[in-house]
Amino acid sequence: MKIESIKAHLQPYSIMKKSQTTINHAFASAIAPHDAYDIKTLKAAMAVLGQDAEIDLLCVYCDEPAETWDHVFGLVRNLKFSGYGHVVGNLLPCCKKCNSEKGNRDWEDFLKKKMPSNSAKKIENLKRYFEKYLPKKFDYEEIKTLCPDEINQLNVIKDRIKALFKEADVLAEAVREKIKKA
Ligand SMILES: [Zn+2]
Repeated sequence: MKIESIKAHLQPYSIMKKSQTTINHAFASAIAPHDAYDIKTLKAAMAVLGQDAEIDLLCVYCDEPAETWDHVFGLVRNLKFSGYGHVVGNLLPCCKKCNSEKGNRDWEDFLKKKMPSNSAKKIENLKRYFEKYLPKKFDYEEIKTLCPDEINQLNVIKDRIKALFKEADVLAEAVREKIKKA
């Protein structure tokens, strides 16, 4: 670790800045469709990935033991619902390291970088997996046309929450100033 990394901690904490990503993610996640839990479908899906679901699953990117599920296509894009939900085809067994390294990067680029010599078969499996289990992307504009009132109200609520957090930041700054002077 480099000494400069402490810099991020030596500055005022903003409730609004720290929560913005969480708020956007929560509102996008809440309207995202999801698949039902069905173990038969899941086992078949893991077989497409070349994995044996009877034993512990492995990270699709590096073959280490999987610890979490990667949403291959992020739920939020440009602060809005991306069109990809909590469906089997959008979830891949993944280790924590790869999950955080990949972030919102393209899965194919990430895989090629991670396993340059061994990626062809994996890419083939993954393409079959998406074909079979990833439904067509929902179009946000279409969703807005389908439920204009609800989407509009959700955006109003989201803006209200952000405005409240901004208000809280101003108050917190006042407290910090008073503590400094005390
Ligand atoms: Zn991994």
